[in-house]
Amino acid sequence: MGKNRQDERLGKRKTNASECVHCHICQKNCDFLSKYKLDIGDRKRLEELAYHCFLCGRCTEVCPVGIDGREEILNIRREHSRDNNGQPGEKGYGMLLMEKKDYLFRNYRNAAGKSALFPGCNFPSFYPKTTKKLVELMRNKAGMGVVYDCCGKPVAELGMTAQEEKIIHGIEERLKKYGITELVTMCPNCYHFLKPRLSVRVASIYEKLKDLGLGSQIPGDASVFMPCPDREKHKWLEEIRPFFREECTVLQSVQCCGLGGCAGVKEPELARGMAEKLAKEMTENQVVYTYCGSCSGNLARNGCKNVQHVLSEILGIHEKPDTGGSMLNRMKTKLW
Ligand code: SF4
Ligand code: SF4
Repeated sequence: MGKNRQDERLGKRKTNASECVHCHICQKNCDFLSKYKLDIGDRKRLEELAYHCFLCGRCTEVCPVGIDGREEILNIRREHSRDNNGQPGEKGYGMLLMEKKDYLFRNYRNAAGKSALFPGCNFPSFYPKTTKKLVELMRNKAGMGVVYDCCGKPVAELGMTAQEEKIIHGIEERLKKYGITELVTMCPNCYHFLKPRLSVRVASIYEKLKDLGLGSQIPGDASVFMPCPDREKHKWLEEIRPFFREECTVLQSVQCCGLGGCAGVKEPELARGMAEKLAKEMTENQVVYTYCGSCSGNLARNGCKNVQHVLSEILGIHEKPDTGGSMLNRMKTKLW
C-alpha cells in the first residue's frame, strides 16, 4: 500500500495526545469520558478502557488543540490486538467475529457489469424491501449489479489490523474477478471506510441517484441525525440535502446512535442511553431522518418512534426499520 493511501487510511495525527492541556472539553462532550472523568490526554486509563469508546469522533471535533481522540483510542486498540496475536485485546466479540471476520452472508452471484451496489450488512437487515426495490431500480435504469459483503469496518475497529488488511484484499480480489470498477455504497460507514482503501471508484448511492435524476423530495421541516463517519466531512449530509424540499435541521445533541466502535459490548447502558436521549428530545410527531441503516435500527430499537431512512423515503417505499427480523433479513442476503 502506498504511503499516501496508508496515511489516509490510518488518519493523519494532528497533535499528539501528550500535548493535551486538560481543558476537559472532550470530557464534557462525551458520555464515555464523563462517566470515567477522563480526558483524551489520560493515556494510562484509556489503555484500560479503549474498548469502551464509541469511536464516534466527537472528541476530535471539539478539541481546541487538534488532538484526534478517536484515532488515539483506535491506535490503543491496535496495540492491544498486536499484543494478543491479532485478536481483540478483550473478550466479548466472538459472535461478531464469527459473522464478520470472513463475512458469512457474502453473495456476489448478482454482480453484473462494471458497477455494483454495495448495500453492506446493516441496511439490508433493517430495510429488506428498500434494498430489493433499489437493486431492481439500479439494474433497470443503470445496468448495475449488486454484491452483498461486509466492508470490514467492525473488525478494523476492534484493532485487528492484519485481519482488516485481509478483508480488504479479499474484496479487491473479488471485485477484480467479477470485473467491477465502481462500488456504489448505501451506508456511510462502508463509504468512508472503503474509499481510502480500495483501488476501484467508491461512490455513494445519493451521488448516483442524482446523476440518474432519480428520487423524489421529502417535504416539510425535517430533522436529520448525522452518523459518526460523516461527522468530519459532512459529505453524505451535503448529498442528501437536495432531497429535502426545505432546509433540514441537523440534530447535534447526541454523540452516537450507540452502535459505534462495538462499545455496546462494554457499555450497554451508555449505548442505550444515547439512543434514549434522542427519543426523549423528540416531540410526539417529530420524524428523525437518518442516512445510516445502523443508526435507524438502533434508534428505533431504543424508543425513537418516528425514524425514517432518507433512501426509503425518496424512493417512495416508506419502510420502517425491521428491528425484529434484522438478523434473519441479513442471513437471507446470502440467497438473494
Ligand atoms: S479537548 Fe483536547 S486538550 Fe482538551 S482535554 Fe480533551 S484532548 Fe485535552
Ligand atoms: S471517540 Fe467518541 S466515545 Fe470515544 S472518547 Fe471520543 S467522543 Fe468519546
